[in-house]
Amino acid sequence: MPWCAPCEKNWTPTSLTSAGTCPDCGEPVEPTPGVDHAPQIYRPPWHFWLGLAAATIYLGWRAIDGLLLLF
Ligand SMILES: [Zn+2]
Repeated sequence: MPWCAPCEKNWTPTSLTSAGTCPDCGEPVEPTPGVDHAPQIYRPPWHFWLGLAAATIYLGWRAIDGLLLLF
């Protein structure tokens, strides 16, 4: 979140000016001190892939079973 040191205020990214400066004092803003701004990479848990594999196998079997009913 953008932090303006002279105003001691956090701004939302959309409330900044088009140049990326503070709308009150015009000073350049910086990331909030003490906050980790590294992007968080989301990885699904292992049981998501287990569930996805189980659903794929089950639905694949149901599709084959349904086709066999036609003959
Ligand atoms: Zn300011």
